[in-house]
Amino acid sequence: MAGLKLEHIYKEYENAKEGDYAVTDFNLDVKDREFIVFVGPSGCGKSTTLRMIAGLEDITKGKLYINDNVVNDWAPKDRDIAMVFQNYALYPHMTVFDNMAFGLKLRKYEKADIEKRVKEAAEILGLTPYLQRKPAALSGGQRQRVALGRAIVRDAPIFLMDEPLSNLDAKLRVSMRAEIAKLHRRLNTTTIYVTHDQTEAMTMADRIVVMRDGKIQQVGTPQEVYYKP
Ligand code: ADP
Ligand code: ADP
Repeated sequence: MAGLKLEHIYKEYENAKEGDYAVTDFNLDVKDREFIVFVGPSGCGKSTTLRMIAGLEDITKGKLYINDNVVNDWAPKDRDIAMVFQNYALYPHMTVFDNMAFGLKLRKYEKADIEKRVKEAAEILGLTPYLQRKPAALSGGQRQRVALGRAIVRDAPIFLMDEPLSNLDAKLRVSMRAEIAKLHRRLNTTTIYVTHDQTEAMTMADRIVVMRDGKIQQVGTPQEVYYKP
């Protein structure tokens, strides 16, 4: 179970001009298991908002709730969040198995548990035949699946994705889009997905948050946002 709430969130970067906010008065209630997509042009504050939720950027003003806790001061590792970024880097010298197991080993999971989790994730993502390969011997889509696998092995209830498909070619983007939607239904995570691609937003979102200049311009279902008469 994981609901999220952003309440009057502002971000002013330290090196920004005084009063120049990257994010201004961002308010949003994300329901448990909801798939939210942030869309908007480059520089409108999508990544900044996502990174504040993840705990990778300080919140200048406002409150972030996970379930009923204010988590502004919580370290990223205490927020129970999984993340996938655009520039996911796999460890080139490690096998697919070891790439997916890496975070679990760091967190001192038991060996048998690691094996079970990695194998389950590999099964879900169709990576079972490739567990002993190195990233260089995989296709782009397979590599992206390993990055997803690395994120889902911990079963975190919240899943954040920042343009995870933008480095893939058009055809692969379409198929990975469907896979991510399927993954979401299967894992029941509360998901926030950042993209500047309207088609991705329309096909994946329960609700779309349209941002512009650091502010929310509109929130609604794909129908409400894109199919106005
Ligand atoms: P995107 O448009 O895909 O979000 P950007 O090219 O805007 O990517 O940003 C890439 C990286 O550069 C991000 O990690 C962001 O934090 C950083 N960045 C963007 N704008 C600035 C800035 N004005 N000063 C410092 N870092 C920035
Ligand atoms: P988006 O993800 O929508 O492309 P960002 O959240 O990356 O937008 O950026 C929002 C604004 O904050 C932009 O004006 C960008 O230049 C600025 N920005 C992003 N990262 C930094 C940073 N590390 N330092 C200063 N300004 C930044």
